[in-house]
Amino acid sequence: MPGPIVDHDKCNGDEECFNVCPADPNVFEIRDEGENKKSYVVHPEECIECGLCVDACPTGAITLEWFWGDMFPSNWMGGRAVEGTALEMR
Ligand code: SF4
Repeated sequence: MPGPIVDHDKCNGDEECFNVCPADPNVFEIRDEGENKKSYVVHPEECIECGLCVDACPTGAITLEWFWGDMFPSNWMGGRAVEGTALEMR
């Protein structure tokens, strides 16, 4: 599984991705970087591509490397994550 990508220019470290991720161990780790927190992908191999982190992130900092996004309609699984990522891949 390719896993999520975090744009650290957008990430404000509010931990929503960490909190919603169902993977165990968690795909994300929140690191304190002085004045700011940032989310890092530490276990991409655990990602099941559910898209919860993409929807939960308030700043739109997360995208999934959806390598088969173009093979399915944008509303497949009813997920905005699928639609957003598929469009970004084009
Ligand atoms: S897509 Fe799902 S499993 Fe993958 S990192 Fe995001 S919340 Fe975790």
